[in-house]
Amino acid sequence: MERILIVEDSKFFGSMLMKRIEVESDFEVRWAQSYAEAEAFLNEQSAGFFLGLLDLNLPDAPMGEIVDLVLGRGIPAVVFTGDLTDEARDNIWSKNVVDYVLKEDAQSIDYILALIARIRRNKSVKVMVVDDSRLSRKIICDLLREHQYRILEAEDGVQAVKILEQHPDISLVLTDYNMPNMDGFELTRTIRAKFRQDELPIIGLSGQGSNFLSAQFIKNGANDFINKPFLNEEFYCRVNQSIEMVENINKIKDMSNKDYLTGLYNRRFFFEVGYKMFARSKRSSGSTTVALIDIDFFKKVNDTYGHDVGDKVLVALAGFLKDRFRETDVVSRFGGEEFCLLLADMGEEYVPDIFEDLLAKIAALETKAGDRIIRFTVSIGVCTRLGVTLEAMIKEADLLLYKAKSGGRNRVELDI
Ligand code: GH3
Ligand code: MG
Ligand code: MG
Repeated sequence: MERILIVEDSKFFGSMLMKRIEVESDFEVRWAQSYAEAEAFLNEQSAGFFLGLLDLNLPDAPMGEIVDLVLGRGIPAVVFTGDLTDEARDNIWSKNVVDYVLKEDAQSIDYILALIARIRRNKSVKVMVVDDSRLSRKIICDLLREHQYRILEAEDGVQAVKILEQHPDISLVLTDYNMPNMDGFELTRTIRAKFRQDELPIIGLSGQGSNFLSAQFIKNGANDFINKPFLNEEFYCRVNQSIEMVENINKIKDMSNKDYLTGLYNRRFFFEVGYKMFARSKRSSGSTTVALIDIDFFKKVNDTYGHDVGDKVLVALAGFLKDRFRETDVVSRFGGEEFCLLLADMGEEYVPDIFEDLLAKIAALETKAGDRIIRFTVSIGVCTRLGVTLEAMIKEADLLLYKAKSGGRNRVELDI
């Protein structure tokens, strides 16, 4: 389990912080109440800490010495303090901390918890930095590294476009304006031809100190703009804001496209992608397979073990189906205990075996309910012949499913 180090002499703030982290995250917390105790922890711990939450003013280290100690061990640090003068703030930022927090009320603890979650998520967030100046790239990359982002670097727009092709999962692009080969405006327009602002945010950067540039960057499709030189604090705020905007939009998309219980696509989204896949198959005379899967005697599972266990069975089946099929296939929960699959280019000769195998693997799935183990079966209707419409194929699969049910359940019925 990953650990967080708190160094804080205030019993009130320290214990409140420790409790909140333990309740609201899965981090293990070590709490040192002085510099000396923190040093002892750091020496005794074999594995490192994920993050240090440090009080600047400790009885045995009143001048923020703890920050140097913790940073010196390669542990990112968030500092908190009771009061903050401009001078103290400059001093804190000069040490390359992740952030600082004013110890005021419960809200500052909310802020710290959100920050911890942010830093952990950043470990899987890719950011590309595009700048022809090695020095300014280094400054920006160092700041991003402090917040644990995964970083990719490009020297100009042309290189950036290539890197983006290899890493389409980049979450943010920070780009300079003035660069050889392809400048920041052209890069922004090139990226926008493929990715919308809510898919891949772009922040423009320039040291030329002209307000004209910021407006032009945004008119070319950037989300935001930062003038160089900038305050670290402003940089982090803008970067976080752009990343969180995309995360929030993705959350909303998931809420409308996915089923809340199982995380599979819902019926609405099934049709949204289904129509496109179906049309593609028609055009290319490729093959499309529609399969309807319905759990046998599911009402009995609910009646015998309770609705919660019924839910667990649905989640287990959903997880199995999601793992079993490819990214390009659509696995959806159509409603209740019925699932619909849309599979592209299956190769007709393999279809019967694939579904017989699926049937057997589902029958072998085990779901725990207390100390009992539950097994269940499904019936499947499979339509492989490309119909006139997608609806017609679903109707055919439904008729075959009915046949599988009336034929004794735990069966597959196909149209071939
Ligand atoms: P058959 O073999 O003919 O398919 O019988 P069945 O009992 O599986 O089918 P029936 O349609 O009679 O019952 C389906 C049950 O699924 C009834 C409903 O309460 C239950 N159900 C639907 N959605 C959920 C859900 O989200 N969670 C749980 N636990 N049960 C659900
Ligand atoms: Mg103190
Ligand atoms: Mg059923």
